[in-house]
Amino acid sequence: MPADPVALTRDLVRCPSVTPAEGGALAFLERTLTAAGFAVHRTTFREPGAADVENLYARIGTVAPHLVFAGHTDVVPPGTESAWKHPPFSGEVMDGTLYGRGAVDMKGGIACAIAAVIDHLAANGGKPKGSVSFLITGDEEGIAVNGTIKLLKWVAERGEKFDHCILAEPSNVETLGDTIKIGRRGSLNGHLIVRGKQGHVAYPQRADNPIRGLVALVAALNAEPIDKGTAHFPPSHLEFTSVDVGNKTVNLIPGEARARFNIRFNDLHTLDSLKELIEQRAAKAAGGKIDFAFEWEPSNAGVFVTQPGPFTELVANAVAEVSGRKPELSTSGGTSDARFITAYCPVVEFGLVGQTMHQVDERVPVAELHALTAVYRKIIDRYFA
Ligand SMILES: [Zn+2]
Repeated sequence: MPADPVALTRDLVRCPSVTPAEGGALAFLERTLTAAGFAVHRTTFREPGAADVENLYARIGTVAPHLVFAGHTDVVPPGTESAWKHPPFSGEVMDGTLYGRGAVDMKGGIACAIAAVIDHLAANGGKPKGSVSFLITGDEEGIAVNGTIKLLKWVAERGEKFDHCILAEPSNVETLGDTIKIGRRGSLNGHLIVRGKQGHVAYPQRADNPIRGLVALVAALNAEPIDKGTAHFPPSHLEFTSVDVGNKTVNLIPGEARARFNIRFNDLHTLDSLKELIEQRAAKAAGGKIDFAFEWEPSNAGVFVTQPGPFTELVANAVAEVSGRKPELSTSGGTSDARFITAYCPVVEFGLVGQTMHQVDERVPVAELHALTAVYRKIIDRYFA
């Protein structure tokens, strides 16, 4: 009998694993994967100022090639439970749809990957022709300091290497098969500070209004696109999100003015080269006449792209054969743990349809769970063919 991705999703949804709580989700995976022949490790990571978080790494096979499925069992809070048609941790199925927090993001994706692997093993004498593993964190939806980033390091320190990774995040926009994510833009937050000289509005000659300089620099940084985009990415984009003086006094010229901004950037830049570029542009616009500085917030959201090749093709073909759609290889959207995985092996993201993630009545059609399981099964079969 084939493994049932619907029952697996339901059982996972029933574990109330709101970040950073384990909620029984990793214990359930440990039992399931141990029964399937995996060597299962559970690790707890700690960081001052953050909650301890449990993680899981499970592997079957000892040789290459090594395919890893990555994901997270933690979920965002359900919000007002009474607003849900079905209790958020019930995993109830009604009219062919499974309801519950995490159904889409991303317990359903993990369940489908497990079902596909179990079926593959059953059809191949219980062992892969290589290695399959699961890299599962409980810290993705939070600040993500005790999750995938540390788990990857932990596995590497054991001397294990991955060849390819599939991150089972909900990658599709409208229908299963429309989108595979092969990269993500980077994200950088900064503050622009212009210093002037405080004074009385009636005597501007004795003061230096920093708002004038700030407006000039904001205009200059908005005037010119950062770049023209690349083969897999749209142009990088700087967006000011706040302009702050905080001056409550009507007759006072403020001494300082600040603006906050975010940049979503493509693979023409690194975090460091981008900072340098923005600082250079501001310096040029200031022409030595504006006293300004930048403050950059720490970021672990660099840009990455998995260049299309045999692996992305294998995944895209499996998706196309099951769904009847030719998936777009996309780099859109916010960040994900793929930004950490890319430092260890090529990674693509393919999972369920993201429509209801993080919403009340998060839900997934049962048919979609079966279709995703079929996609993963095809990928695994061909990967080890
Ligand atoms: Zn997610």
